[in-house]
Order: sequence, then structure tokens, then C-alpha cells
Amino acid sequence: MPERTRKDRPATLAVHAGVKPDPRTGAVMTPIYASSTFAQTSPGVHTGYEYARTGNPTRAAFEAAVAELEGGVAGFAFASGLAAQATLLELLDQGSRITAVDDLYGGSWRLFERVRKRSAGHIVTYADPTNLDAFEAAIGPKTNMIWVESPTNPSLKVADLAAIAAIGKARGILTVADSTFASPMIQRPLELGFDIVLHSATKYLNGHSDVTGGAVAGSRALLQRVDLMRRYLGGVMDPQAAYDLARGLKTLTVRVACHNRSAEVVARFLDNDPRVVRVFYPGLASHPDHDVARAQMTGFGGMVTFEVADGLAGASRVFDRLGVIRRATSLGCVNSLASLPVLTSHYNYSDDDLARAGVTAGMLRVSVGLEDEADLIADLDQALG
Ligand SMILES: *Cc1c(COP(=O)(O)O)cnc(C)c1O
Repeated sequence: MPERTRKDRPATLAVHAGVKPDPRTGAVMTPIYASSTFAQTSPGVHTGYEYARTGNPTRAAFEAAVAELEGGVAGFAFASGLAAQATLLELLDQGSRITAVDDLYGGSWRLFERVRKRSAGHIVTYADPTNLDAFEAAIGPKTNMIWVESPTNPSLKVADLAAIAAIGKARGILTVADSTFASPMIQRPLELGFDIVLHSATKYLNGHSDVTGGAVAGSRALLQRVDLMRRYLGGVMDPQAAYDLARGLKTLTVRVACHNRSAEVVARFLDNDPRVVRVFYPGLASHPDHDVARAQMTGFGGMVTFEVADGLAGASRVFDRLGVIRRATSLGCVNSLASLPVLTSHYNYSDDDLARAGVTAGMLRVSVGLEDEADLIADLDQALG
């Protein structure tokens, strides 16, 4: 199992974690080991690598880096964020109960509602994580797992992670934090008491819109169980993706700093524009969770959601005019991306579920990229018409 070995600061870890010069050649960057199997000297005697579904040196380097960046003991990489989530759910027995945030990422919601409800009989209760009393009330005596996203998608609610972790600890419930929207440069849920942190590595960890992957980190005992489930299910990350991701991590510090800075500028521009009905950005003092975000995060992130008048027609008009900002789903990468949550992440929510999650048809979600802020603002200005 990849081990956490260093105690450096996050920016140093981002560059060095998980990588040691290759023992054979001195290569400073871990090479891509494409081999699917590893030679044994006698039956069962090997270097620690045996078969690539179980372990691969390139993947191990990325896994160790994620573990160190998140302050965990172990890390695991998966073929996608959803493969990671599906594997984590295998920690539960059939008929388990999960309490989850109400504006859950659409793919997670579909995994719960369209798959595991039917195939595993899990019952998922949704609650607003920013209302701790309501969230705690949604946890019953039989709840086995608490599933939190923060910031949430798309309304960027910020949950008090330490408070929710404490609720889980007090009741002996496994806690999972999907920290995809933040990245370990902004918050580290394990240090706030969560058992497991989860990422769609497709987003900020990779950062370049060209790799699909998932990653989790946590304590050794827990992740040994995750490792076993991953061996059985097989949703592992391939070595090329692991290499690309390890490379992406090395620029995470500077990318996230730039995303944070530009998103704040974009949010302020939209907030001051009378053509915009409402802006959701935890860095604005008007955001209901601004104080929690300030206490818990070292930056407010690169995601900005805003609402325009005239529902889907109004949002579509703005969307259709965007130029520099790419009209595409996903987030956390070098290029700015815009999407309409009701048509993308939340496409099969019912009207009731949308209302409960606070997702409206007039919302546009922007992942602010690394372009010049002035060009992004000019693009939004012309698109607002
Ligand atoms: C994208 C995303 C996922 C799913 O990850 P994939 O890599 O697309 O499978 C899960 N959670 C959040 C918050 C996401 O944004």
C-alpha cells in the first residue's frame, strides 16, 4: 500500500509527494510502467508488484501523492470519480442507509437512486448540509454512511465539515467527503475528521480536461477494505492516466491560486451587474456560508454559479453567446467552461428534487480557467447582451 512519508507543506508536497528518483535509471519523474504483469523469482516471490489490477508502480506514485496531499495514510486511484464512488459504496452491506447532501453531484445521485437503490437496497436520505440540525435529524439509528460534498454543485453551499465529521464520529458512522470542487489545496477533510476524502481526479487534480480518473484517501485500516473491493471490482486507473495525473498535481498549487483569484474577480463582476439575478460564490460576503468557507478553506475555489432572468430560455441565450468560455460540462481545468446544471449534472432530477436542491433553470455554472480575467469578463459582458 502506498505510504505517506513526508511532512512538507502543501506546495512542496504537490511537487514531491509520491515521487522518488527511479532506482534503476535515476529518472526524476516516475515512468509509465505499462506492464500488466510482473516477474516472480519463485512462486509468489515478487517485488511487491504482481498483476496490474492489484498494483502498478506509476499508479502507486500518484496514489501516494494524493494520500500525502490530503493528509491521509493511504490513497487509491480509480478509472473515474464514479468508479471510486461505486467502490466506496461496497464498504456497505446490502440495505444500508446513507444520509447525503441535497444538491449532490448528479452522477452520484444517479448511482444512489438509479443503481444501488435497486441492486443493493440502500436507502438514501438527502438533507441540507448547511443546516446542521436538519442534517443531523436526517440521520437515523440505522444510518451507516454520511456522504457530503463541499462546496456543492451547483449552488456552492459550504458545509461545516468539522461539525459533520463530529456527528459521524459520535454515532460511529462512516463519513465520506467529496472534495472535488475544492482540491486539497483549499481544504483537507481528513484533517477535519472525515474518514474518507474522494475526488473526481478528472477535475482539479488533473486540471487539463484530458484525463478521466478518481482518487480517495483515508486511514490505512479503512482503505485496506477499499483496496480489497477495488481488486474484486476492477475499476482501477490505468498507468497513462496515473502518469498524467501525477504531472497535473505538480502544478496544482499555482493553478488553484489562479483559479481562486480569477473566480473572485468574475464573481464580483457578475454580482455588480444588474442583468444578473443572483450570484453563488462562497467568497462573496453575501453568500450564506461565507463565514464557514473563510474558516475552513484557504481559498474560495474556481467555481461561480449565477442566475439570469427568464429561466432556461434566458440562461440558454447567455450560454449560446459565450466564446472564450467553452460551452462544455466538467470543471477544474485550464480552460473556462460553462454549463447549465438543469441540462447537465442535474438532467434527470424531477422538478421537486430540483427545487429541494435549490437548482433553477436560469442557472449557469462557470468553472473559471486560467485565461486572462479581463477576457473572461469581456466574454461574460457580451454574452449577457
Ligand atoms: C465529476 C464529478 C464526479 C464524478 O467524477 P467522474 O470522474 O466524472 O466519474 C463526482 N463528484 C463531483 C463533485 C464531480 O464534479
